[in-house]
Amino acid sequence: MLKKFKCVEGCSDCCINREYFPSKEFGKIGVLLLPKEKKMIEQLAETMNVNVKILPRIGVGTSSNDSSPKSILLYQLMGIDRDGNTCPFLGTDGQELSPHGGAPCTIYDQRPAACKAYPLVSIDPTISTLDSKCSYCVSTKDNMVCNLGLSNEIKALSEIMISTCVDERTQLWRYATNVGDPSDGKMLPEGWIKVQAT
Ligand code: SF4
Ligand code: SF4
Repeated sequence: MLKKFKCVEGCSDCCINREYFPSKEFGKIGVLLLPKEKKMIEQLAETMNVNVKILPRIGVGTSSNDSSPKSILLYQLMGIDRDGNTCPFLGTDGQELSPHGGAPCTIYDQRPAACKAYPLVSIDPTISTLDSKCSYCVSTKDNMVCNLGLSNEIKALSEIMISTCVDERTQLWRYATNVGDPSDGKMLPEGWIKVQAT
């Protein structure tokens, strides 16, 4: 029988650890932001006096001859540590904790859809597939759970999927962030890389 997902007590890993994606050369990615969320995050940061760095993530265009995208499909909120880790909105002073005992999100009610969706990565009518890097999956050695209690995650992931739907003629660019630990080796310079030829 499928288990029900529950955050690991005291865990904040998904607000701290950032990964190299799609490979180390592209640098570490940040928290995915939909275009409409970029402005909201910038305003929150200004109000709360928090420094944020937001980079483009995915660009789109129609011509394979273009050297850069015509518009930006997705942005990303970069981590504050030198190696790209740690969300700028993570409360790290230890005075308050999240309901499961981890460090709290200081913009919880207004957090991006990507944070609301995590750790969900795909939706099925009854089974949810989770990101295998989530500490729950690491501890249970399983990334399949039942959908019970995941309605908010399902709604947020659906919103992201609808917002990022493009047809097969769309030309895609990925933004290399040049963010990561110098000891991890060579990275691409910051900028757009065409990732899909039409
Ligand atoms: S979603 Fe996963 S990684 Fe994030 S706090 Fe919960 S258990 Fe930890
Ligand atoms: S916005 Fe909040 S939930 Fe999202 S990564 Fe940052 S601290 Fe975590």
